[in-house]
Amino acid sequence: MAHHGGDRNADRDEHERGLALELCLRRRACPMSSDSQYRPSPCCPACKKKGYCSDHAVDAAQHICRRGKPKKFPSIDRIEKNGVRTWMFRTDGAPIDGGRAEVPSAPDALASVQTRHETYSAMIDALGADPLVAADRQSLLARGLSEGDIKAARYFTMQGDDASRAALVARMTTALGHAPPIGVPGFYLLGSDPTVHVVGYGGQGIPVFNTLNQIVGVRVRIAIEDGGKKYVWLSRPSKEGVVGAACEASVHVPPHDDAASTVEVRITEGEYKAHIATVRTSC
Ligand SMILES: [Zn+2]
Repeated sequence: MAHHGGDRNADRDEHERGLALELCLRRRACPMSSDSQYRPSPCCPACKKKGYCSDHAVDAAQHICRRGKPKKFPSIDRIEKNGVRTWMFRTDGAPIDGGRAEVPSAPDALASVQTRHETYSAMIDALGADPLVAADRQSLLARGLSEGDIKAARYFTMQGDDASRAALVARMTTALGHAPPIGVPGFYLLGSDPTVHVVGYGGQGIPVFNTLNQIVGVRVRIAIEDGGKKYVWLSRPSKEGVVGAACEASVHVPPHDDAASTVEVRITEGEYKAHIATVRTSC
């Protein structure tokens, strides 16, 4: 539906508005759909950007900005089901119809598989074309994995220092168009400060895949003081005031060829072992 200028066709607009309303009412009746009365914004009145933010399908003054707290309009903060923080606002000064926003879902609710996959993928992408430091690459090659295997499994090096982690979140925010959702384990807020943080483990990152090749979680192999290694999941830190999601137990399905035989399924302990076994036997 055209919103700005141009020679609009009033009949057609009327017809489309009718369709939008019908769709809106139909979707409202479905308890499974969330924010269904909203549709992608052609141009968000708050951040002035296209897409990603939402406009109400019927009420032209009501909007949701997903990029930041609107400066020009009063807004209601909300955390969507997928853990993304958004701001609901009105351009006409009337009270904001919070709708579902009055009962935000728990901010620490675990994000959907799709959101986790997108966020972890963006995190690894944000580390650049070569996300591994030389020592980590060497250790993987020494395990018998090829460069191709390493790339397919999306292994990466996680930097533990504060500056690198803040820079990583900043690059992800630019790439995603919003801050990493705190429903994705490993990303969190401290108190009411809107800055998103990523947990501070330095070590070798191991993406954990499901059967659809989606990254559902991340394990990190970290060096410990006695010279050994331990494995931790990216999850909510146990610091006071942390708002973020805890990870769930996941089964890792190493990168695989969908045409491979599934007659035999091997269950092992440890992501590396599983990947190496898959590479060696191609099943
Ligand atoms: Zn916006």
